[in-house]
Amino acid sequence: MTKVHNFSAGPGILPAEVLKQAAEACLNFDNLNLSLLEISHRSKSFEKVMDESRELVKELLGLNEHYQVLFLGGGASLQFAMVPYNLLRTDGTAGYVNTGVWANKAIKEAKMIGNTVVVASSEDKKFTYIPKGFDIPASLDYLHITSNNTIYGTQIKSFPKTTVPLVCDMSSDIFSRYVNGNDFGLIYAGAQKNMGPAGATMIAVDERLLGKTGRKMLSMLDYSVHIKGGSMYNTPPVFPIYVSMLTMKWLKNNGGIAWIEKKNNEKAATLYSEIDRNSMFKGTTEVSDRSNMNVTFVMTKPELEAEFDKLTKEANLSGLRGHRDVGGYRASLYNALPLESVNVLVEVMQAFEKKFA
Ligand SMILES: *Cc1c(COP(=O)(O)O)cnc(C)c1O
Repeated sequence: MTKVHNFSAGPGILPAEVLKQAAEACLNFDNLNLSLLEISHRSKSFEKVMDESRELVKELLGLNEHYQVLFLGGGASLQFAMVPYNLLRTDGTAGYVNTGVWANKAIKEAKMIGNTVVVASSEDKKFTYIPKGFDIPASLDYLHITSNNTIYGTQIKSFPKTTVPLVCDMSSDIFSRYVNGNDFGLIYAGAQKNMGPAGATMIAVDERLLGKTGRKMLSMLDYSVHIKGGSMYNTPPVFPIYVSMLTMKWLKNNGGIAWIEKKNNEKAATLYSEIDRNSMFKGTTEVSDRSNMNVTFVMTKPELEAEFDKLTKEANLSGLRGHRDVGGYRASLYNALPLESVNVLVEVMQAFEKKFA
């Protein structure tokens, strides 16, 4: 099989050994001579998967005993609604930082549920930077932030310090670097960027924040109901959870967050320094807010894009086209992407400059 360098923004690259184990589990899971896809989620074999997945999240985020971990369906997009539904009091106010498309969608849902204020925004410069130093009213029920803006290629390097509970959409940089999970009231992440396949969303919530809204709660949208059910109030997305567990184990067995953070820093530094050096390309974001996960760049001579696309295709580089809102290019450097793939991209960029500059 041809080696393809997978820079897809999501669903994103997974470790080859994880894909192999996942394929095996589809045929014969846990030596049951049954597929993972055709057994009860209440079976001992799957309960082990659920328990281990929840434990691994707690371990990788360093969460204390107040946190509960859930794996639910509906994508990160359902969390845009579930977060205010569970945390925004009927007479309270939620704060949001608007850093682009995903944050905007979260704000839209919160406004349907209750009082919502946007405390900071980078819309004035097309979301090319992370707002800093803004006021956070102490009366907010929570402050919602997006740690990594997948589309624009910006990333929060230093989280706001506040007594207000932080809610963070970490969909596209979960487990990519050290964070102290206990600094957040709630963390959520769709699995398909950096954690597993599409279909499961991880939620880690400080239980002490729940049950205070004064709202009658629909069962399926109530974190407390899912917590009580051990994340199995209804049939959970068994396969995406299993593959997420394998990916977390892969991460842990290779050296955990410290190991991956070093690798991710190296990959991002390699690519950004080529973008800055190469006369044919330029970055699209504020340098200090550059994402280590999604590297966005455009060409100084956009009329040559088709030529560059030809070269990247020949080198088996996949998934490099930028989001339609930004244009240009986006190289997603998720955890499973090896440095070798970044090096191949850099070589192609250098060859392109030699040929056309
Ligand atoms: C992809 C993405 C989402 C949306 O995830 P879905 O699982 O498709 O709902 C939300 N937030 C961020 C930061 C993302 O990158």
